[in-house]
Amino acid sequence: MFAIFIVTCFVAFTGYRLHSLTWSGALLTVVTGTMIGWAFGWFGLYLLGVFFSTSSLASKYRSRDKKEVDEIVEKTGARDYVQVLANGGVGIMCAIGYLVFEETVWIMMYIASIAAATSDTWGSEFGVLSKRKPRFMFTFKTVEPGTSGAVSTFGTVMSIAGGGLIILASVPFMSFGWSTFLLLWVVGLSGSVIDTLLGATVQRKYRCVVCDKLTEKRMHHDTPTAYVSGWRFLGNDAVNFLSIFSVAWICFSLFS
Ligand SMILES: [Zn+2]
Repeated sequence: MFAIFIVTCFVAFTGYRLHSLTWSGALLTVVTGTMIGWAFGWFGLYLLGVFFSTSSLASKYRSRDKKEVDEIVEKTGARDYVQVLANGGVGIMCAIGYLVFEETVWIMMYIASIAAATSDTWGSEFGVLSKRKPRFMFTFKTVEPGTSGAVSTFGTVMSIAGGGLIILASVPFMSFGWSTFLLLWVVGLSGSVIDTLLGATVQRKYRCVVCDKLTEKRMHHDTPTAYVSGWRFLGNDAVNFLSIFSVAWICFSLFS
């Protein structure tokens, strides 16, 4: 337990030093890591590590080419505690569930939720680098890269790969059959679909009154942006949390 805490602190501090995490994000990473390590042992921490390291690398990858996307998405750069909770909060719930009920389904929910988080992060971090502009779900019109609710082929492929990596990474440690793993992969991917659906429908959107760009930011060019559509309380972090939560819930209904 103590070793798990020390390793988590080290990872969080490294994330902070590499500007992948803010101070509050690092603190929440320690809480998340310790809870998950407590419930699922080194396996839980290892899976979290695969998500954390590959997602950080994906964010850094060709970050210069993502400058324009930074104008659209709500938060850029180091992840704060809300973003850590949006991606890891469901993991904490699964950890608590497992500690209380000690049923395997909570481990599967944990794996699926990390797969969902990875698939979503890979999809957006790589997807914005797609050579072709993404298309908006429902209308199929091309929109600016980074727009929530839009998909590109490259982003979709990377999203499938990211989720697959997590499922594959857990294969050596679990005694489930291949059909279960395939099902977990699909369940994990459903998170990206839910995320995109919510992004296309109810996620709040604003428009900059200076440059007329659609954005998720409340401020653009140091000027408050104008509300366009969506539920005002539903930002990117809430959408992330909801989609990962849905994955855990689907997993629970399937395997319990
Ligand atoms: Zn602007």
